[in-house]
This record gives sequence, C-alpha cells and structure tokens, in this order.
Amino acid sequence: MRKQLGFCFACRKVPAVRGEKDLQLNEQTLSQRLERVATHVPAGARLADIGSDHGYLPVALMRRGAITSAVAGEAALTPFRSAERTVRENDLRQQISVRLANGLAAIEPSDGITAISICGMGGETIRDILDSGKARLSGDERLILQPNGGEQPLRQWLMDNDYRILHEELLRENRFDYEIIVADRTGPVKYTSEELYFGPLQMQTRSPAFLSKWQRILREKHKTLARFEHARQVVPEEKVREIVDQARMITELLA
Ligand code: SAM
Repeated sequence: MRKQLGFCFACRKVPAVRGEKDLQLNEQTLSQRLERVATHVPAGARLADIGSDHGYLPVALMRRGAITSAVAGEAALTPFRSAERTVRENDLRQQISVRLANGLAAIEPSDGITAISICGMGGETIRDILDSGKARLSGDERLILQPNGGEQPLRQWLMDNDYRILHEELLRENRFDYEIIVADRTGPVKYTSEELYFGPLQMQTRSPAFLSKWQRILREKHKTLARFEHARQVVPEEKVREIVDQARMITELLA
C-alpha cells in the first residue's frame, strides 16, 4: 500500500485533522463510507470482503448479526495480520475466515458466497480483480463495489459481463468523493457512453453531491486545458481532444 505523509493513496485514509473525525474508525463504528457499503450487503449474506485490510466491514456486520459468515481476503501480509487480529479479538474465528490471497482466489466453492464487497481501491484495480477471478464467480453473488476513481472502466466491465447496476451512491467524506456501485448479473445490459462515465442511476437522480462533484471536475478540466495552452512542450492532440470531449460532456450534464 503506497503511503506518503500519513496518507494512503489507495483508500485515501488521512490522519485525523483537528475538527475532523478519524476516517479509519474501527469494527464497532465504521466510517461513513463503510457504513454506507454495509447497508447494501443483503441480510444473512455469506460475504467475501476482498482487500479487507483491517477486516472492519465483515467483523462489524457479523457483530450486528447482519450476515451469516464471511471471508476476509487480503493480498498483503500486514493488513492480513490486522484482519486476523480483529477477527480473533472479536471471537469470530468460527464465522470469519481470513485468507492471504490475491483477489477472488480467497473464495472457495464451499464458502457458498452470496455477496462480494471490494472497497477502497481504484476502479481499475477492482475491475482487474473481478476479471482475473471470473472463474470463481457463480454469477449469483451481489457485488458491492466502492471504487476511488476509475468508475467508468469498472462500469464498462460490469456491462461487458452482463451485470446490471442496481444502486449507485455518491458520498463526500473528509474532502473526498466516494462512489458505491451495487450490481447483480442479470443478463445483457446496454449503457450509453455518458451512463458509463457518470453512472446510469446517478444521472437520473442528480443528487446535490453528484452535481457538485461534476462541477468540481469541470473546473479541473478547464484548469487542465488552460495549463495545456501555456505548456512549454506540445501536448499531444489526442490528450487535448479527450479533455475537451469530457468537458463538453460534463457541461451538457450540468446544463
Ligand atoms: N476494503 C477496506 C476499506 O475499504 O476500508 C480496505 C481498503 S485498503 C486501501 C485496500 C486493501 O486492498 C489493501 O489492504 C490492499 O492490500 C488490498 N488489496 C489490493 N489489491 C488486492 C488484491 N488483488 N487482492 C486482495 N487484496 C488486495
């Protein structure tokens, strides 16, 4: 996990600033982000939490009696040990298996997993985890995904693999935007390029959080284009065109 000056680029954990709550919290009091993820885990699920880190999500859900059992999968040794400790300290070793494994390799057929959560990583990383672990998906699992950026390629993967987006949510916590995408494999589904970029359900709901996120991103796109104009080196035409197209799409959304 890349860390710099106390900031985790993957899950965007920052040390608590005066007046702000600690983002990490614990297995009893989840962060607002993980609390929102928790609400989308179906009651009684057998959950696989991939990239579980500290294991707070499965442990909190198990403590609340909201799920039947869980697998906490971790690819890195330090968070794996941290998850093991959380599970042990909460006396949940019978109900939660902590496994050191890459992505969906943590799941075994005998687990009978009915829901998979993959949270606090880039959308491309989540997509790669799903794609390389496809053979381990029965297709009956509810996916609860919380990407930090890279939502468009993740939605593209969902569409390409017959997953329908059932619910989308955007929340802002400690200066960051977090998206939650809930999906089921239902059969072929078609989303437009705008729906893949903005989120099909968010485009319909147009919540205040959604609109202010895209106003912020539009300002950033304009700043980038202004920087391109004053750049010493020539910016490739393709790159400029991409940003111009995105700025146009966002302007149309906000109109
Ligand atoms: N899911 C927790 C949350 O949302 O608070 C932890 C997020 S943490 C930033 C991301 C975790 O994913 C790290 O502990 C990292 O080791 C783990 N991870 C990254 N790639 C993984 C993979 N391919 N398989 C399993 N775990 C992975």
